Amino acid sequence: MRKEDLTAHGKRLLQETPVLETLRGLDPKGVNEVLRIVETCAEFARLHAEPKALELDARMEEDPEYFDWDLVRTAGRYRLFSLVVPAVLGGLAGKYMLTAASLGVEEICSACAGIGNMIAATGLGACPLLTPGGMPHWDTVLREIVEGERKGEPVLMAYAITEPSAGTDVEEPHFLAKARIGMEARRVKGGYLLNGRKCFISGGKEAKYLTVCAATDRNRPLETWTVFMVSRDMEGFSVPRVERKMGQRACHAAELLFENVFVPEEYVIGYEGDGMSMGILSIMAASRGPVGAVGTGIARGVLRNFLSWARQEHGGRKPIEEQRIQMEIADMAASIQECRGLVLDHSLAGDRVFGTLLVNPMMKALFALPREFRLSRPYQAFLQSRPGRAASARLLRLLVSEEDMTRLLALASLAKFASTDMAMNVASRALQLMGPGDSEERRRVEKCYRDVKVTQIYEGTNQLNRLTWYMIEHEGSLRVELPRPRL
Ligand SMILES: Cc1cc2nc3c(=O)[nH]c(=O)nc-3n(C[C@H](O)[C@H](O)[C@H](O)COP(=O)(O)OP(=O)(O)OC[C@H]3O[C@@H](n4cnc5c(N)ncnc54)[C@H](O)[C@@H]3O)c2cc1C
Repeated sequence: MRKEDLTAHGKRLLQETPVLETLRGLDPKGVNEVLRIVETCAEFARLHAEPKALELDARMEEDPEYFDWDLVRTAGRYRLFSLVVPAVLGGLAGKYMLTAASLGVEEICSACAGIGNMIAATGLGACPLLTPGGMPHWDTVLREIVEGERKGEPVLMAYAITEPSAGTDVEEPHFLAKARIGMEARRVKGGYLLNGRKCFISGGKEAKYLTVCAATDRNRPLETWTVFMVSRDMEGFSVPRVERKMGQRACHAAELLFENVFVPEEYVIGYEGDGMSMGILSIMAASRGPVGAVGTGIARGVLRNFLSWARQEHGGRKPIEEQRIQMEIADMAASIQECRGLVLDHSLAGDRVFGTLLVNPMMKALFALPREFRLSRPYQAFLQSRPGRAASARLLRLLVSEEDMTRLLALASLAKFASTDMAMNVASRALQLMGPGDSEERRRVEKCYRDVKVTQIYEGTNQLNRLTWYMIEHEGSLRVELPRPRL
């Protein structure tokens, strides 16, 4: 693709992110793929998210149970649920999966962060399946996401770790060791019985599959934290309620109830007891950077609306003509640019780790085997067997180092807390400058102000993310440990 063939968004992106322009010189095919994905997200944002943002926000304030399935189907036509599904399965995730996802999320969230979260919740839910322990489910669940889009009935996922008695505590090993855990997964013949509650789960009401972390012994949560896949039609699973939300209303935050939900052994992702490393820290190492992109996206939305407001006359004057306003605009633009740099530092480093996994020749060779063979009973049984699980763990250790993963977690936490705090400041400043007068632009900025708050809370509060960064960079007291093969 030549530069002239890019849309206005593609060209703007290259102008505003010189690192991408440079990378494009070295790897035109890879970066053009990123640009294509970002352009698709920008088109969805412009044609569908932006026009619906205010209306959907107001409707869901009145009726928090409402959910816009039509919009989900539209997002499916743009293939937005396949952003994290590996290309070998027909998805969009390739070598620059995190960079494309981060920049794409920024585009959607610049129009509406609630709609962005409604889409991104599936990506987050799918993340634990992307680890080698999740490979038995690639040809079934992940492919179902791709096929759901093709059929016009998207398959959604969600990620459930938070419990009523443990939020911050489940996101960090030292805290989990002392956490008061309510949910338990008791081992029974052929699998586990899950009992308890999860809360605040984004997209949890609509998800067909959920990746859920639970302790198999509530008195030893750190040692027994395990990742399970739950299907919504499993007996005993229900969604008693959704929250009445202040912001990001387009995406439900649901409470989940597990009453003797039987989860078969094959639905344990990786090893029992490896939940902190593979279900939390490795996932956060990938996903916190994109949450930073939610922040840069919201801040971009604020700036766009603020500019449009400032160009209009208010009380006989155009604010844009005042130097103090021009300086405010320059400050907002500088903060956004600075934080997009942090997000890109994370995503490009992440693509070196995760992207390498996806395009690795060994991985490609595995997926060159005919699909019927991959779905066959003996092959699936091998993947689920002890030697199969040990082979997955070995593969991961061969391709990724604990140092790389730990470093990535630090970059992810830094991008997350810095960008979301920045977005909160930008929204707050813009709203103050706009004053009380009503306008569409002001209503959009006011919505951004409400939308941004939760970005400082989910995926680890910003306090926790600061501590995570400090523990890795200065104390050396936090490390992502990869699973050891068990024979
Ligand atoms: C809208 C929304 C969507 C969400 N989506 C999901 C989802 O999809 N999946 C999911 O599993 N969870 C989700 N969450 C949960 C979210 O991750 C938690 O709310 C978050 O981790 C904080 O946990 P908590 O609410 O229990 O607060 P607490 O952990 O009780 O924290 C309260 C305050 O104390 C501070 N604090 C706590 N412990 C410490 C400490 N040791 N040191 C310093 N400060 C500390 C926190 O930073 C915070 O300021 C969502 C939450 C919301 C609000």
